[in-house]
Amino acid sequence: MRDRIPPAVPAAGSCDLPGGTPPDDRLHRRFDPQAFAWEGVEPQVYKAGPADAPGMLWRDVVRHTLTGPGSAFVLRYFEIAPGGYSSLEKHRHVHAAVVLRGRGQVVVGRRVFAVAPFDLVYVPPLTPHQFINAGEGPFGFLCPVDSDRDPPQPLTDEELADLLADPAVRAVLRHR
Ligand code: MN
Repeated sequence: MRDRIPPAVPAAGSCDLPGGTPPDDRLHRRFDPQAFAWEGVEPQVYKAGPADAPGMLWRDVVRHTLTGPGSAFVLRYFEIAPGGYSSLEKHRHVHAAVVLRGRGQVVVGRRVFAVAPFDLVYVPPLTPHQFINAGEGPFGFLCPVDSDRDPPQPLTDEELADLLADPAVRAVLRHR
């Protein structure tokens, strides 16, 4: 009986699709602790568009897209190298990030949180946010989002001035 059940997992090698987007039919992806990556998932550029787009500066961030199309959410793993940071941005969709490795500072509105593995960070709608590596090693976190979501926007000058008025935020914020 058991041998009549078709295999759910394709043969080795058939999963190496270009672009790093996993196919839908992979039920298990083994984690490689050395690479800190999941088999068949290639790291991609963090964001489309230049890293120095006006108001959206970022540095040394890669994205691992862990789930493919076909559901209401996408699960991503982001990794920020030492000295790196994500763009300071806002959008209507929310984030719920779970730290997997390293140390970071996370700006959520006018709050700054020092985070470590398995901390959870929630970013409400339209709240300015930025993830900054605050350690000597990679800072990585899981971050699922809605598949259908609005694009990130830069902050207005007023919003940026409001954040920079707070010394704790000003001390960690990366912007231009
Ligand atoms: Mn965001």
